[in-house]
Amino acid sequence: MKVLAPTELTAIPLHTEFLAGGTDLGERLRNGSLPGAVADISALPGLREIDIAASSTAVGALVTIEQVGAHPEIRHRHPALAAVCRTLATPQIRTQATMGGIMCQRTRCWYFRHHAFSCFKSGGDGCPARQGNNLYGVAIDLGPCVYPHPSSVGVALLAYGGTIDTDRRDGVTPETFFGDGSDPTRDHHLEPGELLTRVRIPYPGEDEDSAYVRLMSRTWAEWPLVECVVRLQVRNGRIRLARVAVGGVANIPLRLSAVEKHLEGSPASAETFEAASRLADQQATVLPGAQDKRAMIRGTVLETLETARK
Ligand SMILES: Cc1cc2nc3c(=O)[nH]c(=O)nc-3n(C[C@H](O)[C@H](O)[C@H](O)COP(=O)(O)OP(=O)(O)OC[C@H]3O[C@@H](n4cnc5c(N)ncnc54)[C@H](O)[C@@H]3O)c2cc1C
Repeated sequence: MKVLAPTELTAIPLHTEFLAGGTDLGERLRNGSLPGAVADISALPGLREIDIAASSTAVGALVTIEQVGAHPEIRHRHPALAAVCRTLATPQIRTQATMGGIMCQRTRCWYFRHHAFSCFKSGGDGCPARQGNNLYGVAIDLGPCVYPHPSSVGVALLAYGGTIDTDRRDGVTPETFFGDGSDPTRDHHLEPGELLTRVRIPYPGEDEDSAYVRLMSRTWAEWPLVECVVRLQVRNGRIRLARVAVGGVANIPLRLSAVEKHLEGSPASAETFEAASRLADQQATVLPGAQDKRAMIRGTVLETLETARK
């Protein structure tokens, strides 16, 4: 396999992937699920900055997840994003993994990652997980691919209304970046050779409660079964703005609009949170291997709402 140096990046072959921290790419290289060329972007200049401005925070594509989680201003301004970055994977992975890599990582589906199988995402024409082993699969079935999207930071970016800049366009919303889940060949909607350069997170102001909760099958070194980011703005006891985004549930990071709608305008009370969380699995069309996730979604959303208001 040819690895292109940063100086060769002007002529990138189609289907080239970028080596950032290498924590995902390296594994795919080892298990034979990396078909194209690789361009080493790890030494590209200008992608390691965190810029704090009055209205937003910009994080360069090569900033590590550990740096995001530890940054005092990010912890202060976007606490749920910082919490995501402090708790995912392992300390070793967080030190190596980058903002660009975590947004663009490929699905963790074992069929995709095993060279003996083919699926929509590896150039085939089916989803073996749909009929096969779909333990940990989606609970909200949005399209032909039934494995949950892997990006925890994607969930946070969705809840914060962040945007993505690339070398070709600025201000891409997470909804555009991740799509609606109907295209099973994609984990993100960058074009071939398009480089994510930074993400921007609007500063929501001081007056906000937020939380991140991840439900896991073991305490660390695992992707969550269900994860949730909540942001609440409360005035005079009533919820003015609610953002509730979940991961581990669908093939894209997903906002739960029915839950948000119920919360907005209601009193910020235990009863409201209970009633809203009962709507969290409203869209659920659960696969046989993911039956337990229905209760997990409700429970995780409820716990995240309660944690945000503590
Ligand atoms: C045990 C374990 C647990 C984990 N748990 C979680 C978890 O809970 N939540 C979670 O979100 N992740 C989790 N991860 C995944 C981890 O976060 C990713 O492996 C990592 O973020 C990838 O970043 P990287 O910089 O190493 O990317 P790389 O491995 O270098 O690249 C990954 C992909 O992103 C593309 N890419 C990288 N940078 C760019 C860019 N700037 N522009 C365009 N494309 C780019 C590459 O082409 C490649 O396809 C876990 C990993 C492990 C091993």
